[in-house]
Amino acid sequence: MSFSSQAKNNLSRLIPERACCCRTELLALFRSDGVIHKMDDEQVLMLQFETENAAVARKIFKLLKAMYDISIEVAVRKKRRLKKNNKYMLRVHGQEPVRLVLQDLQLDYADRLEDDYEEDFFLGDCCYRAYLRGSFLGAGSVSSPEGDYHLELTSRHASNAYFLLKAMERYDLKARINKRKGRYVIYLKGSEDIVTFLNVIGAHKKLLEFENVRIIKELRNRVNRGVNCETANLNKIVNTGVRQMEAILTIDRIMGIEKLKVSLREVARLRREFPSSSLQELGDMMDPPLSKSAINHRLRKLEEIADKLR
Ligand SMILES: [Zn+2]
Repeated sequence: MSFSSQAKNNLSRLIPERACCCRTELLALFRSDGVIHKMDDEQVLMLQFETENAAVARKIFKLLKAMYDISIEVAVRKKRRLKKNNKYMLRVHGQEPVRLVLQDLQLDYADRLEDDYEEDFFLGDCCYRAYLRGSFLGAGSVSSPEGDYHLELTSRHASNAYFLLKAMERYDLKARINKRKGRYVIYLKGSEDIVTFLNVIGAHKKLLEFENVRIIKELRNRVNRGVNCETANLNKIVNTGVRQMEAILTIDRIMGIEKLKVSLREVARLRREFPSSSLQELGDMMDPPLSKSAINHRLRKLEEIADKLR
């Protein structure tokens, strides 16, 4: 299974605690690949969500059920050709149920799907995260860190694409935008940005995997650049680097790096930013500089803190 599908499976199990976020995530999923079928007299007939991922389909179903007292039809279009994925369709039928959902998602007048957003629909940071998560689940993907770094969200509508760009800016993500096969593509190329994005949408497990692969990749590059390092030694460095990074990410996720003592916080930040630097190099980067053993001591301390949090 691809890195992207694994990330989606994990994220599909995450159901927001607050109703505000359920709503924004559902809206994002709907804007990703949803349609509203209308009759000639503009009477709404049916509302449909579409996805190729079974876990995402289950999540849409759960969100709809949690929010509204309506019945939902689930249909599957089986793949006919190799490499073609199944398609899952979740449908809401009938004037009243459809109106209920559309009104709640503020999509209750014609063409609202392509319209701009009501800022008041987003109650806080939680909602923007949920919206980005929904957009990733609905029409996004991320490449495995073993290859080129690439994460993208796609959208049929320009207004949604630019809204996503703006939402990502809230987290200092410098996304770029272009067009492919009639869809807008909002993408990130830097590994730091991709890690931040995965963190924002709550994909903590994939983020760890991503970081681990990145560290190993950086270490290999370092060795290839001619740094003197024997294989056995390299393995040791890789394992230590991965362990330290996991500790720092765990601390950041559970209590936040800012809560650490200043002395530990600085080392944690540096290690996170320079996963393959040696202890000596990290020590030199400190202000004032620290000895190798002082850095080592602090990194051990960070691992102890993480162990207690786990
Ligand atoms: Zn919220």
